[in-house]
Amino acid sequence: MPSFSDTILAWYDSCGRDLPWRRTRDPYAIWLSEIILQQTRIAQGQAYWERFLAAFPDVQALAAASEDEVLRLWQGLGYYSRARNLHQAARQIAAAGRFPDTLAGIRALKGVGDYTAAAIGSIAFGLPAAVVDGNVYRVLARHFGIVTPVGSTAAKKEFTALAQSLLPPDRPGDFNQGMMDFGALQCTPAAPDCALCPLAATCAALATGRVDTLPVREKGPEVLERRFDYVYVRFRGRTAIRKRPVGDIWAGLWEPLVADQRFQGFADDGGRIPRNPLGRSAPTASNLLPDDAVLLKSGVKHQLTHRTLIVDFYLWEPAEEPTLPEGYLWIDETELDRYAKPRLFEHLLESLP
Ligand code: SF4
Repeated sequence: MPSFSDTILAWYDSCGRDLPWRRTRDPYAIWLSEIILQQTRIAQGQAYWERFLAAFPDVQALAAASEDEVLRLWQGLGYYSRARNLHQAARQIAAAGRFPDTLAGIRALKGVGDYTAAAIGSIAFGLPAAVVDGNVYRVLARHFGIVTPVGSTAAKKEFTALAQSLLPPDRPGDFNQGMMDFGALQCTPAAPDCALCPLAATCAALATGRVDTLPVREKGPEVLERRFDYVYVRFRGRTAIRKRPVGDIWAGLWEPLVADQRFQGFADDGGRIPRNPLGRSAPTASNLLPDDAVLLKSGVKHQLTHRTLIVDFYLWEPAEEPTLPEGYLWIDETELDRYAKPRLFEHLLESLP
């Protein structure tokens, strides 16, 4: 009977996905694909990968770009720290003169963790490093009947050691990609195709009726809700935006005025939402909505990893020029395209009359 690894490789050869970054050995292009795909579906990521390669054909071009250019190209992918890290890593590589070809060297790049280092190292340089992601956890847990809850440190050690022991030294990159594809296409979370699985004869989960219960999951952190208002101010063809500060989500991206709904929870006027009676100063995160702002859309949900944002969109067209909160600047509305924005702000712009 063929070994587990031989079966994965044979399956990969005939059923693996044909993806453009698999047709190159250029570490720059492979690294780019790995960073883009970290939290993005392949269908969406592929367009961005092509766009990045067209705009920055090599790492020197990316290193020479401004952060704003990189963020603009990244717009819509979310998790903007990935874009900033990508840019900084490009500068690290350009300064060193070549792409690092050791696991430690790749791991030292900004934004590259154990998983990404193993993926790039094995695919671009044939380094013997196993990747362990959700797909790999699932395939190994089911096939080998492992009940250690995934998400724990113990699981990471155990699954990494097992994946490493299965890694064929002559084709580590293909094996890693085969495991990922196998998990994504064959041994899927909800509907694994066990009837047509080349590993069925040796699969512990299938033999013991535990396909539905493996892998065992650890309870994740609670997802919190955060409510606020986005206020698009329009005054004589101009609007007010500010660059989000470093060290917070969407750092470096531009946002409209924000009013924090936490401060509206203290209403003692029979439950109505109190509003700023003056309407002379623009809202900040610590004051209320202007009295004459118009609701465009309510309860827009935006999911972050550990937080759900629930946002109301407003348009505010004051009669007199308001005083802007610190950090905000007036720009011509026609110039908005030149500023990198989070998806949520794009959504507000699409809701404008
Ligand atoms: S038999 Fe089913 S559970 Fe086992 S590896 Fe194959 S698809 Fe996954």
